[in-house]
Amino acid sequence: MEITRPTSLVEALEARAEDPGADLLAGGTDLMVEVNFGHSRPEHVIALRRIAELAQIDGNRIGAGVTWARLEKSDHRALAQLARTVGSPQIRAAGTIGGNIGTASPAGDGLPWLAAVEAEIEVTSKDRGVRRLPCSEFFTGVKRNALAPDEVITAAILPENVPTNQEFAKIGQRSAMVISTVSACVVRDDDGTVRVALGSVAPTPLRATRAEALIAENPDPSEAVLAEFVRTVSAEVSPITDHRSTESYRRHAAGVLARRLLERCLAR
Ligand SMILES: Cc1cc2nc3c(=O)[nH]c(=O)nc-3n(C[C@H](O)[C@H](O)[C@H](O)COP(=O)(O)OP(=O)(O)OC[C@H]3O[C@@H](n4cnc5c(N)ncnc54)[C@H](O)[C@@H]3O)c2cc1C
Repeated sequence: MEITRPTSLVEALEARAEDPGADLLAGGTDLMVEVNFGHSRPEHVIALRRIAELAQIDGNRIGAGVTWARLEKSDHRALAQLARTVGSPQIRAAGTIGGNIGTASPAGDGLPWLAAVEAEIEVTSKDRGVRRLPCSEFFTGVKRNALAPDEVITAAILPENVPTNQEFAKIGQRSAMVISTVSACVVRDDDGTVRVALGSVAPTPLRATRAEALIAENPDPSEAVLAEFVRTVSAEVSPITDHRSTESYRRHAAGVLARRLLERCLAR
């Protein structure tokens, strides 16, 4: 196996342009699992860990190479909350937000937060430069995304005013080191606008827009409205039954989890 170790983004983009079939490697906590199980046999790996530009947080720009260990200390409350739930300390020390985005798993814990705050995914290629895609365009299916073969994910770009009022939680088969059965993120703007995003309940991170509209119409929701909110979230998701859970449990849990987070946001 050939390994290229660029030390700058320019070098990485050149390597990617020369061999679009090469696999990008950040922390390796997803890719090496695929290799170890024999699902992937990379012939050429471009390792991104030495690229300082990718590992920077600069204002509203979170570099793709920023690890979960760093994001555990983020000022964005829900980002810190979710980062603390990713794997173990070893996984968080190696795993990156860019790798989570690159894998595009429905269970990727970073994705509901990115969708809820309406982040854009920045991708860069040698020939076409920078593109920024909203989550709804970047994530195209289960473990599928809109990255072109010669592109590298360079950052998550946050909007100017990310609400400080935000909550993340996930449900899994045990309380730690667990892949999400359902995950959710709720953010609430100062003007009362609420955004609700869920993970593990659809092929891509899902915004519960009907539930959001219900709260827009009822900014101080009664018990009846909250019950309707739960039903609406449960109706909006499209989960599957698999080895981790059933479709019906996921549907139920999505509504309950979203309500819990909404109530926390409303209490502030
Ligand atoms: C024991 C264990 C526990 C885990 N627990 C969780 C969990 O709780 N929650 C969760 O969400 N995930 C979890 N994961 C999955 C994994 O840790 C995360 O998805 C992590 O963010 C992946 O980042 P990485 O840097 O290791 O990615 P890598 O494995 O290096 O890469 C993953 C994929 O993204 C691509 N890629 C990486 N960087 C880029 C880039 N800059 N541009 C384009 N493509 C890129 C790679 O080519 C590859 O396809 C766990 C994994 C393990 C092994």
